[in-house]
Amino acid sequence: MKTIAFIGLGNMGGPMAANLVKAQYTVKGFDLSEEAKAHSKSQGVEIASSMEEAVQAADAVITMLPAGKHLLAVYGAALKEAKAGTLFIDCSTIDVDSARAAHQSATQASMLSLDAPVSGGVGGATAGTLTFMAGGSKQAFDKAQELLTVMGGKIVHCGGDGNGQAAKICNNMILGISMIASAEAFNLAEKLGLDHQALFDVASTSSGQCWSINSYCPVPGPVPTSPANNDYKPGFAAALMLKDLKLSQEAAKSSGVSTPLGAHAEELYELFNNEGGASTDFSGIIKFLKGEK
Ligand code: NAD
Repeated sequence: MKTIAFIGLGNMGGPMAANLVKAQYTVKGFDLSEEAKAHSKSQGVEIASSMEEAVQAADAVITMLPAGKHLLAVYGAALKEAKAGTLFIDCSTIDVDSARAAHQSATQASMLSLDAPVSGGVGGATAGTLTFMAGGSKQAFDKAQELLTVMGGKIVHCGGDGNGQAAKICNNMILGISMIASAEAFNLAEKLGLDHQALFDVASTSSGQCWSINSYCPVPGPVPTSPANNDYKPGFAAALMLKDLKLSQEAAKSSGVSTPLGAHAEELYELFNNEGGASTDFSGIIKFLKGEK
C-alpha cells in the first residue's frame, strides 16, 4: 500500500498520520478543524479539500474520530468513493454496535474492514508505540499489519467484527474499577496512620497488586512516573475514562450482562467529571473520594 487517507487529525490522529508520513507513505488527510489540518500539513500530510477527495485515491482509509455517530456518517460517504477492496481501519474508541454496523456496511460495499482501537494515549501515538486491539477478518488483519506496525508497538487480533472495541471497553472497565479500589485503599490507609509507601510495598507485591497500584499509583511518591507526582495532569483524562465506562455500560445493557461495579464506577466518574475533574488525570478521583477538590 502506498496512499493512505487519514480522517480525523486530532490529538491522536495527528501524530499517527505524521508517523505514516515518516515511514514514506503518501498520507491524504482530512478533518473538519482548520487547526488540525494546518498542524498535520506542517508534518507532511497532504490535506484534501474534502473527505471524498482524500478517500478516492487511497489504498487504505484510517479513521480516528470522537464517537460512533461520526464514524457511521464518514463511512456512509466514504464507502461510496473508495476503490473496491480498499482496507478501512477504524482506530476510534466507539460503541460495539456502531463498530459492527460499520463493518457490515463496509462488507456490503466490497471493502475490507478492521476495528482497531488503541491504548497508549497521545504519548504512544507520537512515539509510534500504541497498542492496537483489532477486530475483523484474518485477511483484513494481515493486510493492516504493515500500517499498524508503523503506528504501534503491540498488535492483538481479538477476533471478529467489533471485538477490538469489546476488548478495549472490557479492559478500561477493569481499569476504572481498579483505580477506584486503589484510591479507596490509600485513603483508608492514610486515616489508619499507615504510610503510603508502606501500603505500596505490601499491596504491589501481594494479592492487591494491579496496574493502578504498581504502575500508576494514585498517591505521590511510590511510582515516580505516575500523574499523582505531577498534580494529576493527564496522562489519561477523567473525561476519557468516563467515555469508556459509558461505552462499557451501553454494551452491558444491550447484551443483558450485569456489571454492578462497572455501573458504580461510571456513576463515580460522572460525579468527578461534573465536579470539575474532567481534564484531570483519572487517578485524581482519589481526591474527589476524599472530599477534596
Ligand atoms: P480529538 O477530538 O482530538 O480528535 C478527533 C478529530 O476528529 C477532531 O479533530 C475533529 O475535528 C475530527 N472530526 C470529527 N468529525 C469529523 C468528520 N466528520 N470528518 C473529519 N474529521 C472529523 O480526539 P482524540 O483525542 O484524537 O481521540 C480520537 C479517538 O481516540 C476517540 O475515539 C478517543 O476516545 C480515542 N482515544 C483517545 C485517547 C487520548 O488519550 N486522547 C486515547 C485512546 C483512545
